[in-house]
Amino acid sequence: MYEISKLKYSYNALEPDIDSRTVEIHYEKHHHSYLNNLNKVLDSINYDYRYSLEELVKNIDMFPLEIRGDILFNAGGVLNHNLYWLSMSPNKNNIPVGKLKDAINEEYGSFENFKNEFIKTATILKGSGYTFLVINHNKKLEIINTSNQETPYLYGLIPIMTIDLWEHAYYLLYQNRRGEYIKNFFNIVDFVEINKLYEKNI
Ligand code: MN
Repeated sequence: MYEISKLKYSYNALEPDIDSRTVEIHYEKHHHSYLNNLNKVLDSINYDYRYSLEELVKNIDMFPLEIRGDILFNAGGVLNHNLYWLSMSPNKNNIPVGKLKDAINEEYGSFENFKNEFIKTATILKGSGYTFLVINHNKKLEIINTSNQETPYLYGLIPIMTIDLWEHAYYLLYQNRRGEYIKNFFNIVDFVEINKLYEKNI
């Protein structure tokens, strides 16, 4: 059976930017249901859980065609939410540090430009999905959107930061004001954790 990352903070830790009720439902109901559905479909073919979740996605052609869509959707749901929770914290680590700070300055000129670019990309996403900061094939930073539960691992990209742009991520607190949610995400983003992922994968 696969498992999901434990939350490193309490449900109300991200207030006032994300409310306690949203974190609780999002983590306990939404995130867990991707996990349960993934384990269920894999149990149905007596899968031996030999791969990490990242490898599972990369080796999707090992699985029967008729369940690939289900596996990708639910594995993506688990991976994307793991990264989303890791991308945030109440620790006020919202300024880039370490090698990630240098890479952001090199690629975008300044943190301010990077932030504007990330917000711009998130704003143009249509429907449900995510905006990711990824390490691309040339080991450079790139900001991309994916739809539904698609994970960048599917394209050989390594995601290191993400914002969930499904309505369930913000609707209780922000209703239709998605732009405000995206802007406030930068109050609680945790660049210490994101930099750890960057330095591990560069
Ligand atoms: Mn979600």
